[in-house]
Amino acid sequence: MDKGTILVVEDEPNIADLVDLYLSREGFRVLKQPTGESGLATMRDHRPRLVVLDVGLPDIDGLEVCRRIRATSAVPVIFLTARADEIDRVLGLELGADDYLTKPFSPAELVARVKAVLRRTDGAQAQEIVQVGAVAVDIGRREIRIDETPVDFTTREFELLRFLAERPGLAMSRQQILDSVWGHDWYGDERTVDVHIAQVRKKLGAACSISTVRGVGYRLESSAR
Ligand code: CA
Repeated sequence: MDKGTILVVEDEPNIADLVDLYLSREGFRVLKQPTGESGLATMRDHRPRLVVLDVGLPDIDGLEVCRRIRATSAVPVIFLTARADEIDRVLGLELGADDYLTKPFSPAELVARVKAVLRRTDGAQAQEIVQVGAVAVDIGRREIRIDETPVDFTTREFELLRFLAERPGLAMSRQQILDSVWGHDWYGDERTVDVHIAQVRKKLGAACSISTVRGVGYRLESSAR
């Protein structure tokens, strides 16, 4: 029942051991590190699903550790804080912490928070973004990004690209596209699809290609770049 790796960066061994015990019991593989530097090294080598990060560490401050993690990763981070002023700093710096717990905390509460954060972040990553080459169709934010940069799409263009991106490599007829993107009760010419495809192609540029399939309709190439 391996549920993935959780990195625990905590210099107090009794707290680290307790967290380890509870998370291991839930099926997580737990890696413990007592300093910020060793935590960052483990982060790079093991790419954990989630990081439990103490704010007060002997070498680098937990907030700085989080900042360095954030430079390369969106891994969920739950902070452990010892004092009220630490909470203020965690919240004030907007480091992208996913949650925090104040010591002393109940290990069962930590387990509940870990599960909740993983549910939230995994769902967002797995279901709400369709990636085709350099193009990200972010369904949650209703946004198209090319190489991380948002590009303006109208609602119809967005839905059109989403429809094709969810079916990469498959030829879709104009009628199928009309039925899904415009709706079954829409009456109009199939050329409407051609006009919108032209717009979407222009906006995608070389990032991703939509091929014309003779006698059928269109296909989004899955092997873009
Ligand atoms: Ca500490």
